[in-house]
Amino acid sequence: MANVGFVGLGIMGRPMALNLLRGGHRLWVHARQPEVMKPLVESGATRCKTCAAVAEHADVLFVCVSDTPDVEQVTVGATGFIQRARPGSVVVDMSTISPKVTREVARRLAERGVDMLDAPVSGGERGAIAGTLSIMVGGKPDVLERVRPLLNLLGKNIVHVGDHGAGQVAKACNQIVVGQTIAAVAEGLLLARAAGADPARVREALLGGMAASRALEVHGERMLVRNFAPGFKARLHQKDLRIALEAAREAGVELPGASLTAQHVDALVEGGAGDLDSAALAEVLERLAVQTLPAAAGGGSR
Ligand code: NAP
Repeated sequence: MANVGFVGLGIMGRPMALNLLRGGHRLWVHARQPEVMKPLVESGATRCKTCAAVAEHADVLFVCVSDTPDVEQVTVGATGFIQRARPGSVVVDMSTISPKVTREVARRLAERGVDMLDAPVSGGERGAIAGTLSIMVGGKPDVLERVRPLLNLLGKNIVHVGDHGAGQVAKACNQIVVGQTIAAVAEGLLLARAAGADPARVREALLGGMAASRALEVHGERMLVRNFAPGFKARLHQKDLRIALEAAREAGVELPGASLTAQHVDALVEGGAGDLDSAALAEVLERLAVQTLPAAAGGGSR
């Protein structure tokens, strides 16, 4: 049984923390809003007033917060893990953030004898609940082996990509593929409608061939029934594409496809849809195309 901490109990973090608890580990949690901790505390976790207090009790400190400044605050901030983490403990950051800042946070933690893995995930809320996430790991291989039994409770495909930041680079690559695939699914369904074919039947046909993808399955379904409850919020998708384009600039490469998708996601968020699922990207593309996808009979609503 390990002593584990978790900060960032949102759509992804809450089920991941529950899976660690169900795996038989002792869990300490912190959230800015106390009610967020309630389901975890009811399942046996102990609440803490600060991230530093979590670090006082736990040896492996999980983070799954929104953006780069949030990870900095939780890990190396004024009330962050670094204030009380013991040498030999490990921070596992499962948020999607900047690879460059990840390397800096890892360096600052290492000065205190604390190891860090960047371990961003793919697989969405479903994968978090089922414990079937894909986990992309950056950091020292021996540190990964120390925490692998815990990661096995969260994911099924755990890949060591390279040194600090490499996991976040892999996640940026993932978001380039996912973002453009969601846009492609929206355009495919949009053309189906415009050309007089039933988009639901088109999706069904495509799912059996080369165009099959999780985005076509999950986001395509959401587009058809107009269910844009998150899931993966559009503002997080915007953040991820910003991180990917920053990484591309630093690496000196142009990504024209990702740049265009990022503009469309910016339009979605600026239009007030930041908290809708990123499948709502279909609405931006529909406006550009002056087409409307039909709502499926009995389908959900926003
Ligand atoms: P979410 O539902 O918005 O949850 C984020 C959680 O982090 C919230 O509970 C938030 O608390 C907390 N938080 C943010 N900043 C904090 C800080 N400075 N200190 C303490 N707590 C803080 O987001 P999510 O969908 O779970 O995503 C979390 C991370 O996983 C993101 O980096 C995202 O890109 C990544 N991710 C998400 C998905 C997905 O499908 N949703 C898939 C893969 C990866 P407050 O309520 O107090 O703000």
